[in-house]
Amino acid sequence: NTFLEIDLGEALNQNIRRCKYVKPTPVQRHAIPISLAGRDLMACAQTGSGKTAAFCFPIISGIMTGQFAQRPRGARTGYPLALILSPTRELSCQIHEEARKFSYQTGVKVVVAYGGAPINQQLRELERGVDILVATPGRLVDLLERARVSLQMIRYLALDEADRMLDMGFEPQIRKIVEQMDMPPPGARQTMLFSATFPKEIQRLASDFLSNYIFLAV
Ligand code: AMP
Repeated sequence: NTFLEIDLGEALNQNIRRCKYVKPTPVQRHAIPISLAGRDLMACAQTGSGKTAAFCFPIISGIMTGQFAQRPRGARTGYPLALILSPTRELSCQIHEEARKFSYQTGVKVVVAYGGAPINQQLRELERGVDILVATPGRLVDLLERARVSLQMIRYLALDEADRMLDMGFEPQIRKIVEQMDMPPPGARQTMLFSATFPKEIQRLASDFLSNYIFLAV
């Protein structure tokens, strides 16, 4: 019933201690082992449930231990390995802050891109290299259209507050984004979908984007 029982590696465990997390929350206790085992996941989880760590820990651990950990440094520019989509600037910034704490001294680089702010600073950050990109859907479509980001190397996709993203009308953008990362071999991408509610529209998103997924309600 501690994080040490989940095999996340020493660097991540140290950062978890720095954050003063001792005991995983219910969504973390269940979601992290499922993701570490390589399975796609649809989780019903509310704000405050600890879902940020639930999707960040497996992504950071996977980037540190995966075979793509050895990719050439230059390839980091504009080619994230993981994408976290969230509905708002505020939420994206919160996720970015947490993800940076979790990846402290791991070499994993986290960049955030959101709309309603000048794009130039975000472009400069992306040029310095990116492993995990946290983004709002509209701004990411903009970056894709400018060819400043490629999703060809994405191995992990997390959709946070998916129901809210649909409520805000982001479904076309989300579909456009996910289309750009469909590449062989099948199953190369691991996807986690988090939503507070599970209406028909979310079920459809899950069946379109996830493969053979585990459903988790906490
Ligand atoms: P979230 O639902 O991801 O927005 O997390 C809600 C709050 O709980 C954040 O302030 C986290 O830093 C904190 N938190 C998440 N997981 C844990 C944990 N296992 N132990 C203590 N605090 C946590």
